[in-house]
Amino acid sequence: MELRDTPAEAELRAELRAWLQRVLPELPAPPGRDDWPARVAFDTDWQRRLFEAGYAGMSWPKEYGGRDAPPGEQLVFLEETTRARAPYVGVNFVGTLHAGPTLIAEGTEEQKEQHIPKILRGEQVWCQCFSEPGAGSDLAGLQTRAVLEGDHYVVNGRKTWCSFGHVGEFGELLVRTDPEAPKHKGITWLILPMDTPGIEVRPIETLLGSSEFCEVFLDDVRVPVEQRVGAENDGWRVTNVTLSFERGTAFVSEMVDALRMAEELAASVHDAAERRELAHVVAELDALWALTKRNVSQADAHGTPGAGAMMLKLGYSEARDRLGELSMRVLGRESLDVGGFAVEERLRTLSIPIAAGTSQIQRNIIGERLLGLPKERPWPREA
Ligand SMILES: Cc1cc2nc3c(=O)[nH]c(=O)nc-3n(C[C@H](O)[C@H](O)[C@H](O)COP(=O)(O)OP(=O)(O)OC[C@H]3O[C@@H](n4cnc5c(N)ncnc54)[C@H](O)[C@@H]3O)c2cc1C
Repeated sequence: MELRDTPAEAELRAELRAWLQRVLPELPAPPGRDDWPARVAFDTDWQRRLFEAGYAGMSWPKEYGGRDAPPGEQLVFLEETTRARAPYVGVNFVGTLHAGPTLIAEGTEEQKEQHIPKILRGEQVWCQCFSEPGAGSDLAGLQTRAVLEGDHYVVNGRKTWCSFGHVGEFGELLVRTDPEAPKHKGITWLILPMDTPGIEVRPIETLLGSSEFCEVFLDDVRVPVEQRVGAENDGWRVTNVTLSFERGTAFVSEMVDALRMAEELAASVHDAAERRELAHVVAELDALWALTKRNVSQADAHGTPGAGAMMLKLGYSEARDRLGELSMRVLGRESLDVGGFAVEERLRTLSIPIAAGTSQIQRNIIGERLLGLPKERPWPREA
């Protein structure tokens, strides 16, 4: 693992900085939080600009419109765009950060051709339909049922916490195809066109008063067999590929963002104890950045992020939580200034230890899969 820039990375960094300096001032003002048509237009326009400049899909294969750059260059891209305050992936989150990478790793040729170039050009928005009211942490316990009828799966069930469900054109859908098999063995991963008849999407209002999330009701929804990713009943393996991207690399730009926020907060921290606290958070984020580099090197060798990915999301969630809490304490009433941005940010950070698998579940996974500790016993514990 090399922590310093290679000559190619240094060249990309300089080129990217110049491009960002030129392009960012030309962008329109970001739209309001609840103006969804404008948000989709803004986020997909940014994705298109990245594509046209050759910066979309840094690590994705060239044949589908990516750059085929080594992972180190992908990190340079994330670092520079975040530091320059370029637009966040926004509605392109699922497509670019985990649906696209899953299709590259597991999809058929047709699936790749149909989706990858469009995701890269900002022409296709995705959402994730994994969680259910009774299956979040215990995702493998999902109940949404799919029955094969001819060349279609007929899907019935209910999904929840589906981010961008009301604007997504395609969903990553997990269904149960074999109810008799052990729960991890009867799941299938499907591509769900969100305009299929029988789908009802209902937005859920969050603590922030916005509606990023949706419930998705599926009533006799017919999904063609060719929309299956991986084999029937092999969906849990494919899900773990998706989650390795979602937990391993999808948080990288948020981490750079947290480092930038910590630097900004430093100007307002005068108390010695609080300065020490901030320094600890920054040191931790720096260490996580080094771990990210290691993960990315492993992704280069094996195609998916390595075991360090499991640590990353947990470490980041906790550091970000401490940073949010510290910034409220340091800023005090000042945090209500500038449109209450700091307060909003603090409320948003409360969701980070839950999204993409809670911290408790991440600890179980690290204990059992990484450290080989004994499996947790079902609750309630027997004497
Ligand atoms: C910002 C955000 C975005 C999200 N986006 C999506 C999305 O786009 N698509 C999607 O499908 N889902 C999404 N989710 C849902 C997310 O994956 C779930 O909320 C998460 O997996 C937890 O599941 P749950 O909410 O059902 O909580 P539960 O599973 O009910 O957990 C409740 C509490 O019990 C604890 N717990 C549960 N089991 C154990 C155990 N075995 N050991 C120890 N503690 C345990 C949990 O850690 C948690 O504290 C999103 C969530 C958030 C917050």
